[in-house]
Amino acid sequence: MKKLLLITLLTITCQNLFPWGFYAHKQINYYAVFLLPPEMLVLYKPNIGFISDHAVDPDKRRYAVAAEGARHYIDIDHYGVYPFDSLPRTYTNALKKYNKDTLQKYGIVPWHIQTMLFRLTAAFKEKDQAKILKLSADMGHYIADAHVPLHVCSNHNGQLTNQHGIHGFWESRIPELLAATSWDFMLGKAGYITNPVYFTWARILESAAAADTVLRIERELTASFTADQKYSFEPRNGQVIRQYATPFCLAYNQQLNNMIERRMRQSISAVASFWYTAWVNAGQPDLKQLINKSFSDDDRREFEELNTAWLKGHVKGKDCD
Ligand SMILES: [Zn+2]
Repeated sequence: MKKLLLITLLTITCQNLFPWGFYAHKQINYYAVFLLPPEMLVLYKPNIGFISDHAVDPDKRRYAVAAEGARHYIDIDHYGVYPFDSLPRTYTNALKKYNKDTLQKYGIVPWHIQTMLFRLTAAFKEKDQAKILKLSADMGHYIADAHVPLHVCSNHNGQLTNQHGIHGFWESRIPELLAATSWDFMLGKAGYITNPVYFTWARILESAAAADTVLRIERELTASFTADQKYSFEPRNGQVIRQYATPFCLAYNQQLNNMIERRMRQSISAVASFWYTAWVNAGQPDLKQLINKSFSDDDRREFEELNTAWLKGHVKGKDCD
């Protein structure tokens, strides 16, 4: 019984650690590279391993930097009802209406994406390869997070409706089960985003509109499955963990009408298009002629510190609420 409790706790801990899941974030950045034009592929293709591996740095940074958490979500329901017209779309205007503490408390992902676009554009202008790669990897993460319905909803882990664990279920368990074998990530080309603020908010509002469905369908399915059918115990990384059973995952995915695949595809297109937009706005610099090609000692130290902070937080389960 004690062992069962431990396994359950371990599962609850593990399910909530990785927004979009480490797996999905890495896949999104990876597949986004293939949507770029040849002038950008000369840089991104040889560095696809870095772009993909470091897609999860912002999640690791949450353990090291206090202000990081707010960059990954927005509890948009705090600001009224869909389409949340009273919430200003630009950060400057939002700040005028609400104070900084309020914006930080309820999350800033739509505005942080604009900050990242500005920084990446500057890095392209400086022709700074190390900065371009780091910022591209980071920006991909925030854009992908904005596509997740539960990142745009205060009931982010079903904690208000007794659906604890649904966050990891939607964005980790199901992509890990289905993406490699059943989902298609070969998409069209990256496009220029004329109005990044408008584009971002369109995706945020889509996520907000989908959040109810994400929660409702899990609730309905749970009523038609016994606990034994809903969960299974499976080996993973040398441990037996409790997780959502495959038949429950497949039923949920079907009822969602492939929403998760669709949001992942849209994330991939959006990430590539934001990278492309930054490059165009910087004047389309020649990416064969860059400076600062290798990562500095400071960069390497930062990567190591992020890993250490994450591993420490991971062990303590600090990110589980
Ligand atoms: Zn995140």
